[in-house]
Amino acid sequence: MQFIDLKTQYLRLKDEIDAGIRDVLDHTAFIMGDKVAALEERLGAFCGAKHAISCSSGTDALLMPLMAWGIGPGDAVFVPTFSFFATAEVVGLVGATPIFVDISPDTYNMDPEALRAAIQRVRAQGVLKLRAVIPVDLFGHSADYDALTPLAREHGLLLLEDAAQAFGATYHGKRVGSFGDAAATSFFPAKPLGCYGDGGAVFTDDDQTAALLRSIRVHGQGTDKYDNERLGINGRLDAMQAVVLLAKLGVFEEEIARRNEVAQAYDQQLSGAVVTPTVREGCMSTWAQYSVLCRDSAHRERVRAALQSKGIPSMVYYAIPLHMQKAFAALGGRRGQCPVAEDASDRILSLPMHAYLRDNEIQQIADAVLSAG
Ligand SMILES: *Cc1c(COP(=O)(O)O)cnc(C)c1O
Repeated sequence: MQFIDLKTQYLRLKDEIDAGIRDVLDHTAFIMGDKVAALEERLGAFCGAKHAISCSSGTDALLMPLMAWGIGPGDAVFVPTFSFFATAEVVGLVGATPIFVDISPDTYNMDPEALRAAIQRVRAQGVLKLRAVIPVDLFGHSADYDALTPLAREHGLLLLEDAAQAFGATYHGKRVGSFGDAAATSFFPAKPLGCYGDGGAVFTDDDQTAALLRSIRVHGQGTDKYDNERLGINGRLDAMQAVVLLAKLGVFEEEIARRNEVAQAYDQQLSGAVVTPTVREGCMSTWAQYSVLCRDSAHRERVRAALQSKGIPSMVYYAIPLHMQKAFAALGGRRGQCPVAEDASDRILSLPMHAYLRDNEIQQIADAVLSAG
């Protein structure tokens, strides 16, 4: 069994993807070009953002807005401590300081009250300039923007939405990617909307930010890439990835619906035995991960072993909260600083999740989880 089945999906879309890739080979326009422009148009319309700027990865999609906003040394950027490393890595890459914020126990997303406390703490210390916050839509479930956005506004923080795991999800009727001053997503193959390599996109309604992002994406270009107005990166998307993403967008909503069916089937089988994921009122998840909480780390080990004995893969996202990662050791993070995230790290477990999971496979997985006692 696969944790994420990319092969079945490819076979379904094979004719369209193969023909599109052949077309790219025939025309030898490998980077950017018409197909990337068509993709950007589709992505922006899909999530309701004025500008969609494709790029080379989700990490670059987070990095480029920080560069566009001139965030750097002496600046504080608030991030949830329970996320993929890239969310905080980009803050360090521009020379700014990540401030790690604890999460809400039900959605694993940034806790607005913990953000408020962190803002007050940094403000009271008076060393760093408060510049931005990067809420993450973890596991496909959007962060709580009704609480986070006013808090960001009140303290003059730019809000960068990390929607790398949640493209397609909705929050109170709006698609993720449309929150904040800019939003970033990833098309890494394992994400809900993935390509066949690395890729990402930034979304914004702000014309000035969009113009800066387009420049930064190509080495800070001015009139062309040999006229360099600022430092940028090589952040472009290639045409073959656009072909793959355009084909997948055709079945994306149907896949999201099936992922939600899979999640409901898991919920029914597993509630009581483990803590099943919460979907908040007015939210629709894309289920990048279906993550349950075991009773403790020993129970998690038994569940993993039971799954493994049946050939079923499982993953731990995330075993080490960001404030305890070695790369950030100089910031003095310690156990006890973000207790909700630390507790989740000890007992969380993600089960296979994709749109092509069959009912009998869900049953086998659930039976194995339940057999661990
Ligand atoms: C995957 C991911 C990223 C980085 O995306 P890449 O395309 O792998 O660079 C950033 N943030 C989160 C929350 C992610 O899950």
